[in-house]
Amino acid sequence: MARGGRAAALRARNGRQAGNGGELPAPSRRAAFRRRLLAWYRANGRDLPWRRPADPYHVLVSEIMLQQTQVDRVLPKYQEWLAKYPSLESLAAAPVDEVVRTWYPLGYNIRPRRLHSIAREAVTRYGGQLPEDEQTLLGFKGIGRYTAGAIRSFAFGRRAAILDTNVARVLFRVFVGGGNPRQHATRKRLWAISEALLPRKHVFDFNQGLMDLGAMVCAPRNPRCAACPVRSLCASREGLAS
Ligand code: SF4
Repeated sequence: MARGGRAAALRARNGRQAGNGGELPAPSRRAAFRRRLLAWYRANGRDLPWRRPADPYHVLVSEIMLQQTQVDRVLPKYQEWLAKYPSLESLAAAPVDEVVRTWYPLGYNIRPRRLHSIAREAVTRYGGQLPEDEQTLLGFKGIGRYTAGAIRSFAFGRRAAILDTNVARVLFRVFVGGGNPRQHATRKRLWAISEALLPRKHVFDFNQGLMDLGAMVCAPRNPRCAACPVRSLCASREGLAS
């Protein structure tokens, strides 16, 4: 069968297995994906400082820094930041101009202002702690659905889904395969898939594994399909193989 034909057949098979109009992957498919991703992450996951121990404030700082900035540029600034502002209280007490200067050269200066305002709100309203509850977290200006999911799953071990650019690309390629990934309906479906995939245990490893797979294997260009732990489940592997 031609490459395009195999890809179409795989997408059709995914849809049938998913049932319900192809909205969600079938339970057996989800289980296989979880198993393979977790095994791969444990052998290959990146050793990043905000992963150990996963403190809510540390997760918040790393997630805001990683918006629009690559990991290798974030690493030195993250260490410097925590040395200067080791807690939400210390960040809240600092003048905002100094906070923006400390952020340099990461850019997108709305981000340190947001962090500062989150710290002040956490101190004023929540005793200097980040709350665990999703709706309360979403009430902070600067914390969206993704960041709330990252804080809840990484720092509190809650079964909370995430969907950043890397995760969306992986889930789209594996479980959707065709269409426009930027469409609102597709985005909604990807959130639903991310939620449906969550394991009962090991949510931290699973979500970190999704992010690492997107960063290290399922890259935007030239994905390394031959080395991918979920290639046999992937609706896009035939179309993207070089
Ligand atoms: S098989 Fe290729 S396209 Fe599919 S998830 Fe893996 S790296 Fe991405």
